[in-house]
Amino acid sequence: MSQDLEHVKCLIIGSGPAGYTAAVYASRADLKPVLYTGMLAGGQLTQTTEVENYPGYPEGIMGPEMMENFRKQAERLGADIRFGYVSSVDFSSMPHKVVVDEVKTILADTVIISTGASAKWLGLDSEQKYSGFGVSACAVCDGFFFRGQDVAIVGAGDTAAEEATYLAKMCRKVTMIVRRDEFRASKAMMHRVLHTPNIEILYNTETKEIVGDGQSVTGVTVINNVTNEEKTLDVTGFFVAIGHKPNTDIFKGWIHMDETGYILTKPDSTQTNIEGVFCCGDAQDHIYRQAVTAAGSGCMAAIEAERYLAAKEHIVTA
Ligand code: NDP
Repeated sequence: MSQDLEHVKCLIIGSGPAGYTAAVYASRADLKPVLYTGMLAGGQLTQTTEVENYPGYPEGIMGPEMMENFRKQAERLGADIRFGYVSSVDFSSMPHKVVVDEVKTILADTVIISTGASAKWLGLDSEQKYSGFGVSACAVCDGFFFRGQDVAIVGAGDTAAEEATYLAKMCRKVTMIVRRDEFRASKAMMHRVLHTPNIEILYNTETKEIVGDGQSVTGVTVINNVTNEEKTLDVTGFFVAIGHKPNTDIFKGWIHMDETGYILTKPDSTQTNIEGVFCCGDAQDHIYRQAVTAAGSGCMAAIEAERYLAAKEHIVTA
């Protein structure tokens, strides 16, 4: 074990709306929280454009700006926010042991897991080969590089619909590759897609291969799963928007999860199966997955951590 040891009352892992909200509440409860941001400080919302559905912003706000506000608020209230990646945990005894960047060990009386979720990939070799060279999982980050060009996007949920309309503003044409004969996206998002003239939708269609010249993407071969008809679309950009996977691998073997890796918490609570370990946000929520619900559960986690510590202190001093 690392020699670099530090003892904290409350350790928060992850820096999306859940983690920062937990940090706000834990700071105000005088738990002196330490928050490690993970590799993507600010989480998924730093990769989105405008957020219109977070209460309190009548004109909407850009995702990265909103997360910057979350961070500043937590820091102003006293949270110690650090850039770092949790590499392993040991929840076998109290205090809990959490290793950061493989060198530093934090001994934590309470741990709040708010590690969120990450984009899923199709799993094609060609997708990996051209990742960063025409293949992307973030239209907002990379759309700019495809100005005036033709691109394709796979997926039929709200993310795909949102990203397709975003890309349509700067690209000449956007082809949506939808594996069923219908969308999963909400009616409001669908309305936008269907009323954007330079978006074409290919239903019952799957991606077979991403084609390239060895340097970058030149097309994508798709197959109609009803007619078996195959064709290659001439595109220079290929965007993947097929959902997310919870970032919970480091907790496997300690924390109870479902088969996809979403952490299981007690009903109406953020309490996990391990005493003093709480989980909030997208790492445990596969139903709502919204910034506002993540923030709400971050608040719950901090309140539960505070009550847990208060009850323990009461037992010790009673
Ligand atoms: P979803 O899980 O909702 O949708 C994933 C989509 O990808 C589905 O249409 C699915 O197809 C498709 N898909 C999955 N795997 C494959 C594959 N291998 N090949 C082809 N297609 C595939 O994920 P989202 O990221 O879209 O949304 C996640 C959550 O976030 C949702 O609750 C959504 O409402 C919310 N959200 C809200 C936004 C907003 O309100 N502004 C914006 C973005 C997301 P199929 O339908 O056939 O299963």
